[in-house]
Amino acid sequence: HRNYSTLPLSIPVTLPNGTTYDQPTGLFINNEFVYPKQRKTFEVISPATEEEIAHVYEAREEDVDSAVQAAKKAFEGGWSDADPLVKTRALTKIADLIEEHAETLAHIESLDNGKSLQNARGDVALSANVFRSSAGWADKIGGKVIETGNTHFSYTRREPLGVCGQIIPWNFPLLMFTWKVAPALVTNNTVVLKTSETTPLSALYVCKLIQENNVLPPGVINVINGFGKITGNAITEHPTIKKVAFTGSTATGKAIMAKCAATLKKVTLELGGKSPNIIFDDANLETALQSAVAGIYYNSGEVCCAGSRLYVQEGIYDEFVAKFADYAQNKVKVGNPFEEDTLQGAQNSLNQLDKILHYIKLGQDEGATLLAGGERLPQKGFFIKPTIFGDVKEDMKIVKEEIFGPVITVSKFKTVDEVVRLANDSEYGLAAGIQSEDVNKCVDVARRLKAGTIWVNTYNDFHHMVPFGGFGASGMGREMGEDVLNNYLQTKAVRTAITQK
Ligand code: NAD
Repeated sequence: HRNYSTLPLSIPVTLPNGTTYDQPTGLFINNEFVYPKQRKTFEVISPATEEEIAHVYEAREEDVDSAVQAAKKAFEGGWSDADPLVKTRALTKIADLIEEHAETLAHIESLDNGKSLQNARGDVALSANVFRSSAGWADKIGGKVIETGNTHFSYTRREPLGVCGQIIPWNFPLLMFTWKVAPALVTNNTVVLKTSETTPLSALYVCKLIQENNVLPPGVINVINGFGKITGNAITEHPTIKKVAFTGSTATGKAIMAKCAATLKKVTLELGGKSPNIIFDDANLETALQSAVAGIYYNSGEVCCAGSRLYVQEGIYDEFVAKFADYAQNKVKVGNPFEEDTLQGAQNSLNQLDKILHYIKLGQDEGATLLAGGERLPQKGFFIKPTIFGDVKEDMKIVKEEIFGPVITVSKFKTVDEVVRLANDSEYGLAAGIQSEDVNKCVDVARRLKAGTIWVNTYNDFHHMVPFGGFGASGMGREMGEDVLNNYLQTKAVRTAITQK
């Protein structure tokens, strides 16, 4: 923290490609960037260089309240029944703006999060798709007429909830902003969103685009910077907020849900995972290898649905694991996120780096064998070598707990029944992978796995129309596709007695 009241509300930031853009630093409330009451700022660093990128202003309780009042006024002042085509136009415009500014946004995202530019470009493209696809729902949300006989006319309406509080993590700053904001707005809600304290930059940049292009009425979307225990907590406690949507760790999700009980807020949660990726003997080995690699090294392993438990069938175990270890050691390029062929960038923070290194040491102490990686790169920045553990036992902590980094465990199995049992032996249930050329086996195992997403002969493969979310300790509610609309609507039933004439 620094008291830095002289910080302007917009500062020039030069990206590694040499271009300079204006980075907002304030809180986005009522379509304006504003100072918080206390004018405190906090530092945002680049995980790849450990150097400061910018300071941004920090919202405290009183600023959360200003944002909530703005959102309430916007909801009551017209957004709650905004015309469907007004919403279509606004969300389409945001999609267009994200596409027009795609390279700047991808660079901001890599700089702030540490992820490779190739991963960041994918996030930006999916974000634009989600806004564009959400725009298409605007005039397709409605209730039903229910035939209950001649004495009554019964129908339902699908109505918004009101002011929604949204709290997002640092692993996909722009994409999580999008997954939260787009469905909330298309269902006529207004929003107060808190970005993660380590990655506030891209969401503020999109707010600037929204402001400059007059896309939304004031107060429909409010974005604030700040820390979980203060700013996030104020969102969960605020009596005017009707719903909290959260993505992040399971521990924080539980705390948020407990807090929301006091004011009976609706809650949707997208939490952690320890997802199995199963390679059967009859898999196409090249496809399976690419799925394993994408499963754990995509986004530097900082993915809630990472395929972090690999199960390989005994017939191909030795050959596959040797290939995978060779690929991790020699083909996954780790380092400067801005080099075009870098797959794995920096971990997001020193905290996260330390957590991952702690698990790597724990794995060795528990008796697992390092087959690849296992250490930090000897340079500035939070880089870890792509890491594989073999000789694991299913009760080891590195097999049970979410590491959230480029660390995978590999186990050998014999039969379908055995691997289904091992795969399902987790409190989590976010995703699972099946690699096999036998369609019967794929369909059967997909049915038997307990997870919200099953990827067959692919992994970490998202689409804006396909719902995403967890079973069990991985959360509740779905994002994207038609399902997400349920997170932001409530049903009203109208039953009218008809006087017979
Ligand atoms: P976190 O869950 O604590 O933070 C996520 C968001 O919640 C941030 O915006 C944070 O400010 C906010 N927050 C934290 N405490 C809060 C509270 N009491 N009330 C309201 N908001 C609060 O995650 P983290 O501390 O940044 O990372 C810890 C671990 O969580 C990671 O190591 C990783 O394992 C996991 N994680 C999972 C995901 C995911 O998508 N599933 C994302 C990020 C982190």
